[in-house]
Amino acid sequence: MKYFKLLLLFVIIVLFCSCGAEDRVSDVEKNEKIRYVAFTFDDGPYTPVTNRILDTLEKYNARATFFIVGNRAEIYQDCVKRAYSLGCEIGNHTYSHADLCGAKKDTVEKEISKCSDVILKITGERENLFRPTGGKNNKTLQSEVGRALILWNVDTKDWSHHSSDKTISAVLDNITDGSIILMHDLEVSTAESCEKLIPQLTEQGYQLVTVSELLRLNGIEPEAGKKYYNAIQSRSAIS
Ligand SMILES: [Zn+2]
Repeated sequence: MKYFKLLLLFVIIVLFCSCGAEDRVSDVEKNEKIRYVAFTFDDGPYTPVTNRILDTLEKYNARATFFIVGNRAEIYQDCVKRAYSLGCEIGNHTYSHADLCGAKKDTVEKEISKCSDVILKITGERENLFRPTGGKNNKTLQSEVGRALILWNVDTKDWSHHSSDKTISAVLDNITDGSIILMHDLEVSTAESCEKLIPQLTEQGYQLVTVSELLRLNGIEPEAGKKYYNAIQSRSAIS
């Protein structure tokens, strides 16, 4: 009887542990008629904006990847938790929005691991994607970061113009199957643009998925130290 109870406990633990990232990603099955893209939001969380974006994502059954800043996530834990519970992905954007290109190795390690610890504390899971601040990177950072570097091929420049119309045009004029789109969830105008963009893109046959889902749907397994600009399988997309 004792052994049976132990066995039961073991089975429960295994089942519990297996409900991780793999299951979250594998629930998307590729439909050839759908064009998959990934919206990515940097520099948050910031509750007033992040939650508004999450409301829209939830309404249209869409997901996105949030590259969070660790010390902000400590303040706004609830919206990180909510994003994760909606199936969104949480990525690492350093602990203090540090420029790690050219930084000392121990600074790189500290900034990455402190942010990763915050993510683990909130979601129960370690992230495997990293977005360098300002997109700045070099070979040293690539080798030290221990995660896939996720860049983008559609830049909305939302942080510079604060215009929802300009963000909408940047996306609609440049988006293609497999795109990774850069936005920031500190901007109210970005939340506004999402409220128009997401239903419009959904109607055009796009589905918004996380970066990990986007890559895997296109047969790409993200590898530590490699850079990804989009998920179209061409040599220029990965380096
Ligand atoms: Zn940033």
